[in-house]
Amino acid sequence: MKRVHPYPDGDEGGMTYFESLIHEAVRRRRAALSVSEVVRAVGSLYEDVCIGGEVEEALQDPFFPLTLYARHHLPFRDWGRSGVGKAGQDLALLSRMFLRIRKDIDRRFGNREATCVDLNGDANQEVALGQWCSLCGECCQLPGTIPDPPEPVRYPGYWYAYIAGDSPLIQRFCPFLFELAPQGLFFCAIHNVKPLTCLAYGREDCEEKHPGMSLAV
Ligand code: SF4
Ligand code: SF4
Repeated sequence: MKRVHPYPDGDEGGMTYFESLIHEAVRRRRAALSVSEVVRAVGSLYEDVCIGGEVEEALQDPFFPLTLYARHHLPFRDWGRSGVGKAGQDLALLSRMFLRIRKDIDRRFGNREATCVDLNGDANQEVALGQWCSLCGECCQLPGTIPDPPEPVRYPGYWYAYIAGDSPLIQRFCPFLFELAPQGLFFCAIHNVKPLTCLAYGREDCEEKHPGMSLAV
């Protein structure tokens, strides 16, 4: 990344320009406002224009999990001066992974068939919630799980590694966990073909491990 300038006032809690842009993008996505300008600014911080372009493309996507990135990869002050570079690198990796997954979902399963959300649609679309799952996404914020697809489904090869937590990124949430930012919801992008291990995660597991997150009866 290019040198990241301190926040103009130098007094945003030590926040760097990069971090302030990400928080602004998160805020705008939640409010269903355009993110074009702020996303262009993020992309322009990368010296490599191809990488910057990929980051821009991912951040423009209505389902990119930017809130999760901000939650798990920022702030980076514990890393000292190298922190902002690491956070930028993580965002570039996550963007590349996301775009690749996105294309392969459509190629292999179809954007309308892979999950409970129309992946050709936008983030404001109405989503039919299940009987008890609130789509809070808490249970999928884990480094990896068992990549065991239901028969006769076969995933693109690299998905097995990504689901198992063996991607180029140190995973703090599953890369198949996408976001509906204006609705504050998170969903599995391969819900209809998700691993059996994920399918087996039921209400009792949810209530035990994430009390208070499921929908009240
Ligand atoms: S923690 Fe529970 S309510 Fe939240 S997404 Fe997972 S299963 Fe659904
Ligand atoms: S594959 Fe889907 S259900 Fe399983 S951990 Fe990832 S996002 Fe969650």
